[in-house]
Amino acid sequence: KEEKENESPKEWKLEPEHEFRFEVDFGTTVKLKLIEGTAEIFGTEIGIGPEYEFSGRKVAVFTWHGKSSVEYLANETPMVSYLNMHLALEQCREAARERGGPGPRVMIVGPEDVGKTSLTKILLSYALRQGRQPIFVDLDTNEASLHYQPSFRNLYVNKIDDDDDTPTFNQGTVTIPGALTATPINQILDVEEGFGSSATTLPSIGSSTTPIVYYYGYAEPGENVKLYKILTARLANTVNLRLDQDEDARTSGLIIDTSGLIDNNVGYEILQHCIQVFSANIIIVLGHERLYSDMARLYKDQSDIKVLKLSKSGGVVNRDKMFRRQSQMRKIQEYFYGTSKVGLQPFNASIDFHSLSIYRVGFGSLAPSSALPIGIDRKVSETQLVRVEPDETLRHSILALITTDSPEEPALLEANVSGFLYVSEIDNVKHKMTILSPCPGRLPKPYALIGGFKWMEA
Ligand code: ATP
Repeated sequence: KEEKENESPKEWKLEPEHEFRFEVDFGTTVKLKLIEGTAEIFGTEIGIGPEYEFSGRKVAVFTWHGKSSVEYLANETPMVSYLNMHLALEQCREAARERGGPGPRVMIVGPEDVGKTSLTKILLSYALRQGRQPIFVDLDTNEASLHYQPSFRNLYVNKIDDDDDTPTFNQGTVTIPGALTATPINQILDVEEGFGSSATTLPSIGSSTTPIVYYYGYAEPGENVKLYKILTARLANTVNLRLDQDEDARTSGLIIDTSGLIDNNVGYEILQHCIQVFSANIIIVLGHERLYSDMARLYKDQSDIKVLKLSKSGGVVNRDKMFRRQSQMRKIQEYFYGTSKVGLQPFNASIDFHSLSIYRVGFGSLAPSSALPIGIDRKVSETQLVRVEPDETLRHSILALITTDSPEEPALLEANVSGFLYVSEIDNVKHKMTILSPCPGRLPKPYALIGGFKWMEA
């Protein structure tokens, strides 16, 4: 049953293996309720009874069983092929468990808007429903796909509350656009993409439920290819260390979502790099014949790497630049303020300029080659750490707080992120800046990275 604001509810009956698709603009809300039968949204089952709310989303409600009836929605979906893919992955996982070896390392590639993120969610949910604990690796810096995991803010909160070990709260969003993340999936994905209402256990620092986050700082991997490669390699390394200690995750394997950059210049270079550093052994090419044949050719001599193709769902919707930008801004907003369902209370603080050292990686977006310091060419400059002196240009910037004790390269460049700050005001006279922070108290470490994201508090 679909209920729009100020409209009387509509009821839909779904045939087996059919889906009901709908789009909700930003600023409007659609409520959805399952009245009978079974249904799932991108792999996650929804229950009978509760109302699910959607805003600024494009959604598909799918049923395996449905109800044969006169009224139905005739949709062709590739869900059977997605389920078969999952079953094949399950066989790999079973074999891995028997051998005690590693599970499948799946990488989903394809152009923009073919449903890579949706397929990722489906495969993760199905794995979870079978009792697996795969690790979700998100290399798509355009969006922050997962919002249900409560642990990320904790990372920061716990650090701050080290002294009096009373965690302030434990619900929060994982991360914001521009981040590269790896998250162990051990609880149900939230269909509303808000905050997991079931996710209330408090993970401890460094536990296997803590996401791993690095800050790249830009939406497009092509913006600073060298940095993107360094950070994905670093992420892969950390994921491997985690897998060494966690047998369930190791045998369940990885599901890696990628960005839609597939031009055969930097796009291919980045894809090949990611396949290599994550030792991906199953490459799923979604909805793109040429990319499939190119990938199949590139890896034809490597018997340990399988390149497979799946077709795009007819339901996948193209998102224009405006919609993407709005989604990014909303994710940042949610990081600090939560959602309409679960509100969060961020904190304003005024801090001295000198209490935080801010670094930018690369001169790229700052200066043309001719304006670079003497002796620094563009290649080198891509990963050069540049200290940013606070001034007006910092206003409305997003900063990633990093966990390092050493302000040296490469420690600073490759440090894990503990949380994000927003710079709302700069006072050049008093040398102070006003920051919005997810939690009160002193900053865990006085180092931050800045990328290209700006945000305006609504
Ligand atoms: P990008 O690489 O640009 O991030 P993507 O390939 O990951 O895109 P998705 O984010 O999975 O693509 O899908 C694009 C949009 O289409 C999303 O808003 C998603 O919710 C929607 N969508 C995906 N599958 C369906 C479906 N079967 N019915 C309706 N909407 C869908």
